[in-house]
Amino acid sequence: MPDGIRPAAIAVRDGVIAELRDPQQLISADAIDFGDSVVMPGIVDTHVHINEPGRTEWEGFETATMAAAAGGVTTIIEMPLNSIPATTTLGALRQKIASAQGKLFVDVGFWGGVVPGNSGELAPMHQHGAFGFKCFLVPSGVSEFEAVTEADLRRVFPELARLRTVLLAHAELPGPIEAATRNIRAKDPCSYSTWLFSHPPTAEDQAIELLIRLAAEYKTRVHIVHLSSCAAVSLLRRAKTDGVNITIETCPHYLTIGADEIPDGATQFKCAPPIRDAANQEQLWAALRDGTIDFVATDHSPAPPSMKCASIGDYMRAWGGIASLQLSLPVLWTGAHKRGFGIADVANWLCRNPASFAGLSHKGEIAPGRDADFVVWNPEQSFQVQPEKMFFRHKLTPYSGRTLFGVVQSTFLGGEEIYASGDFPAGRRGRVLLRGEA
Ligand SMILES: [Zn+2]
Repeated sequence: MPDGIRPAAIAVRDGVIAELRDPQQLISADAIDFGDSVVMPGIVDTHVHINEPGRTEWEGFETATMAAAAGGVTTIIEMPLNSIPATTTLGALRQKIASAQGKLFVDVGFWGGVVPGNSGELAPMHQHGAFGFKCFLVPSGVSEFEAVTEADLRRVFPELARLRTVLLAHAELPGPIEAATRNIRAKDPCSYSTWLFSHPPTAEDQAIELLIRLAAEYKTRVHIVHLSSCAAVSLLRRAKTDGVNITIETCPHYLTIGADEIPDGATQFKCAPPIRDAANQEQLWAALRDGTIDFVATDHSPAPPSMKCASIGDYMRAWGGIASLQLSLPVLWTGAHKRGFGIADVANWLCRNPASFAGLSHKGEIAPGRDADFVVWNPEQSFQVQPEKMFFRHKLTPYSGRTLFGVVQSTFLGGEEIYASGDFPAGRRGRVLLRGEA
């Protein structure tokens, strides 16, 4: 809750939090007592690739939202790629909304996409409920979602400013990546270091420098997705101090896995930008501590084992994307607790700040008037990650076998228990969220 952590009874009416009471004043006969467990706002994950329609064999609405519910995630804002069509036109947004109907265990909203030449589609998608727009400055990995150049961005920024919407950017520039890749041709593609060296921090740092410049020039809101390079933190800190309208997310894997721990051939660890060394990781925690990084999102982006080149372990050919939607709370909590952070910090990074970023004023906090979305969990209990207990479609995850603290017991969406110790008692009661709707 906004004022920190305390014992409380939460009264829920019509799916919404009606009031917070002292637990002694609990008078309702149908009250549930969760003992010493933590009741936290449902997690809001603003960076998830569900891939339906078109690539449902990678991940789909049903499997992804079951995994979300099992991990305490009650709201997802879904990325405009890798579905087919990509969400870069009003027609494609309509198709995505239609294909989500009846499949959702949690609430799901959608980002639109900015690609070369689609600036005329942004206003219609915005009016139809898209929460904002994502772009890539390097090839995205799928041909339907082309990267934009600075010239493309200069055409689209005035429109984004006019709509008062946000541009989410995959911030890597192609130049440094191409130069580094030329130098590693002779290296072993199954070695993690080959992948790491192919995506140097300068690719991120230069992209972020460009985005800060454009955000300031056009007075447009910009959001940096999945920040990996700590070298960009000082640039971002200065931009925020200077009043540039910019927010930043990082991901659980950048915070809790070090490049040194990644075995050769283990392509379940491949993502872009790459997981960097342990010193970089600590700098990201420091940036979360001082508020330069605003929140944490998973960038859940699975693919079939064949696409991950799981059997040959070739980092250079494997699909880049990490499956983690069900695990963000225990992964982040295990890393955060070790560094002296508390439950309130985790709630800010996973619930309050991402909800506020996406404009979801009815989610992300336990306060009267907000949706009765909760995750009930035990921060002291640990478990070992077993792939067969993951509900996302493909079970390959870098967290497999890890011992994590923080067991999710129950998840509530709009006051209904949607997950309880392995079961989904309320079924598919998630809704499609549209920007501006309560
Ligand atoms: Zn992503």
